[in-house]
Amino acid sequence: MFGTDIAAASSIPRRSLKRWWGALARREVRASLNWVSEIDRLLAQCREAAAHVVGECPWCGRPLPAGRRRWCSDSCRADFVDNHFWGHARERALKRDDRTCQHCGKQAPKLEVNHIEPRRGQGYRAGCHHHVDLLETLCRTCHVAVTHSQRLEYAAEVR
Ligand SMILES: [Zn+2]
Ligand SMILES: [Zn+2]
Ligand SMILES: [Zn+2]
Repeated sequence: MFGTDIAAASSIPRRSLKRWWGALARREVRASLNWVSEIDRLLAQCREAAAHVVGECPWCGRPLPAGRRRWCSDSCRADFVDNHFWGHARERALKRDDRTCQHCGKQAPKLEVNHIEPRRGQGYRAGCHHHVDLLETLCRTCHVAVTHSQRLEYAAEVR
C-alpha cells in the first residue's frame, strides 16, 4: 500500500510542484504587500496617528526599540488594529460599553454597534470611521431609532 502511494506521489513531475510552490509564495507576498500598503494608507490619513518620523512608532510616537520595525509594542499594534478594522473595533466598543445599550441601559443578548458619525458610503472597509470613540453599543430597538434619525438628518443636510 505504501509502495503504491510513493509511486503516485513521485509521479508528479518535480517541475510542476516547484511552479505551484512559486505561485503560492508569490500570492502570499502580494497579500502581505497589500496589507502593508493598507496600513500606510490608514496611517497617512489618521488624525490619531503620530507624525510620520522614521524610527518612531507611528501610533504613540515613541522611538522604536531595537528589533522593532513598525510598532514600538504589541499593544500599539493592537490599538491601531482595534481602531481601524471593523471586527476588532466592534468587539472593543462592546467591551468598553460593558455590553450595555448606551441609550436605554438594556443588556440585550443581541447588541449592535452604531457609528455615531454615519459611515456614509464608507462601508465596513478598514478606516478611521471605525475609531472606537466614534462607536456606541446599542440594543436593536435603539439602533433602529438612531439610524432612522441619522438618515433624516443626512437627508436634511443634502437637500
Ligand atoms: Zn507605540
Ligand atoms: Zn437600547
Ligand atoms: Zn484612524
